[in-house]
Amino acid sequence: MKFDYLIVGAGFSGSVMAERISSILGKRVLIVEQRNHIAGNAYDYFDENGVLVHKFGPHIFHTNSKKVWDYLSTYTEWTPYYHKVLGMLDGEMVPIPFNLNSLNQLFPSTSTKAIEDALLDQYKIGEKITIQQLQNNKNKQLKALADYIYEKVFHGYTVKQWGLKPEDLDPSVTGRVPVIISRDNRYFQDKYQAMPKHGYTEMFKRMLHSPNIKVLLNTDYKEVIADVHYKKLIFTGPIDLYFDYKFGPLPYRSLRFEFEFHNKEEFQETGQINYPNEYDFTRITEFKKLTHQKNILGTTIAREYPEAFKIGINDPYYPVPKKEHRDKYLLYETEAQKIKDKVIFAGRLAEYKYYNMDQIVARALHLFDKEINREKDN
Ligand code: FAD
Ligand code: UDP
Repeated sequence: MKFDYLIVGAGFSGSVMAERISSILGKRVLIVEQRNHIAGNAYDYFDENGVLVHKFGPHIFHTNSKKVWDYLSTYTEWTPYYHKVLGMLDGEMVPIPFNLNSLNQLFPSTSTKAIEDALLDQYKIGEKITIQQLQNNKNKQLKALADYIYEKVFHGYTVKQWGLKPEDLDPSVTGRVPVIISRDNRYFQDKYQAMPKHGYTEMFKRMLHSPNIKVLLNTDYKEVIADVHYKKLIFTGPIDLYFDYKFGPLPYRSLRFEFEFHNKEEFQETGQINYPNEYDFTRITEFKKLTHQKNILGTTIAREYPEAFKIGINDPYYPVPKKEHRDKYLLYETEAQKIKDKVIFAGRLAEYKYYNMDQIVARALHLFDKEINREKDN
């Protein structure tokens, strides 16, 4: 089999690059994917009860990039969706990220007035601050508030999710869920927030629909690479696997999802509820509430149980952002640089970076422009 590009992985990174190479350059691409489906971790499907579910946990699309939004809009229409998350704190369901509404719901109005005044005195309305910033605040009341939020929102959840305390991870991890000085209960404030109208998998199908693109599922690239003729490889799997773990395995975090169908109209108040302090799972997603799926009897939920990643046993879902892991990744990156004329490493696993979907699409479009499109005359 002869191709111009061999791409390992049919997630966002691999599929966006395949689409660009095929439609802009008219070149032939083979995508090899070890799973039995396209769309990587964004894969969704209709379960046996007809509910559209996300196999690998809730995937909410949000971006500030018009370029990314316009690009994906070629392959999907959208259903507007603003993600709202509640967290179970001290027996109350309060908005997460923690905001002024969470504060007022948890404490009596006699004490919230002074705290709110202190917050508004030091921060602008709408401002986002990390839990670490709030903990460093000199004001005694705000420091006490920070300690409460740290204990009730971040500590238990982070220990479950990562097996590490917040302070043992890069601050960017908890920084993803800041404290917000506002009454805006949305999880994200991005300019574009929506779900693909017919699901992620359908969007990927349209992206990959081209006579120039062949997709080989259920296949580890190592099984076929020796038999495929190609000019360049694009690798979107784990970078340590590519180099046969020569510097040792990179730590990843895995998850186990427990799906459950309920024969009732709704299971919970909102699409996602976080349980920082109770149970062994971190959150429960009710899919119907994310997708606005209509005319469906019953509802499907998933509980997420974080687990240690074990090679060959479960999937590597999250790189673990921490300095010594980054240092190990850089050893692999140096190896990658040596073969950059032959192999492009792209994606959450290949770059060992906690990317969201929109960042991955932006990255794939950038790599296409900088590394691939300039080769068009070759
Ligand atoms: P992937 O989607 O992981 O694709 C890589 C592909 O390579 C996989 O399909 C894998 O099977 C394949 N592969 C690996 N090794 C081999 C091999 N040896 N041979 C063949 N194929 C191989 N982002 C958001 O923006 N919003 C969200 O709400 C959100 N929620 C998330 C929830 C969870 C639980 C997780 C884990 C991620 C979430 N993300 C979210 C992030 C999003 O999933 C990623 O940004 C995106 O999927 C990364 O795309 P990728 O192509 O880099 O990687
Ligand atoms: N987090 C937390 N409590 C919460 C929500 C998030 O401690 O209620 C922390 C936790 O460390 C988590 C990180 O913030 O891993 C990022 O959360 P996000 O919701 O962005 O995680 P993802 O959807 O990527 O799993």
